[in-house]
Amino acid sequence: MGLNVIMMGPPGAGKGTQAERFARERGLPKISTGDMLREAIKEQNPIALEAKKLMDRGRLVDDATIIAIVRDRLGKPDTRPGFVLDGFPRTVEQAVALDALMVERNQGPLVVIDVVVPDQELVRRLGSRRICGQCGTNADPGKTECSKCGGALVVRADDDGQVVLERLKVYERATRPVLEHYRARPTFRVVNGAQAQAKVAADVDRMIDEAAAASGGAAGRGRTVPVAGERHMSARVAE
Ligand code: AMP
Repeated sequence: MGLNVIMMGPPGAGKGTQAERFARERGLPKISTGDMLREAIKEQNPIALEAKKLMDRGRLVDDATIIAIVRDRLGKPDTRPGFVLDGFPRTVEQAVALDALMVERNQGPLVVIDVVVPDQELVRRLGSRRICGQCGTNADPGKTECSKCGGALVVRADDDGQVVLERLKVYERATRPVLEHYRARPTFRVVNGAQAQAKVAADVDRMIDEAAAASGGAAGRGRTVPVAGERHMSARVAE
């Protein structure tokens, strides 16, 4: 059984950071539709260049394009042990398409983590966010260069004032209903993203392991241990 995770949350909630860390620690591919689009723009892919016009205005790229990108990516063999999705699904239509893909794959449960952060904190964070101009990684606070590749830090084009507000509006309108699509599932968990980063990380790990164990799936590589109160089931924890 694979471990399939969706990291949900509004722009600035820290879902990208958590997705990146969790994926690295568990040896799973992190699949970020935003990163894939930015990568394709760099390569001058014509569809991505068209999408860039929407991205720069804080709008969503059309469902058909995004679903095709994710379908293709999830078809790659490195996703067999599972994956961590960041930035997808962003609409109910995308979520429904992912459900169908999961049935086709038949490789373990889908754990959904919603990272929740108050609006005013999101605006503050997005205003001060920097990313690496070379590899696109989110910069650590207080750093002047990328901790991954040493590249120079830049402001993301869509983190600019009005665009941030538009992205938050789009999130409310198009993406919040996706949470309702998942909320009743036994593998849905909410994490308080306004806490210190280490605490958010610990909560994310615990919630994912709990949810995966409760649904009978594996939680990435590591050793198998019983979960308190659920002795008939087991969770896998990182060593
Ligand atoms: P992100 O890096 O996830 O914030 O994505 C940056 C931008 O890429 C978004 O504001 C959208 O314009 C576009 N994008 C990324 N993922 C999706 C998606 N799942 N559906 C539609 N548009 C997306």
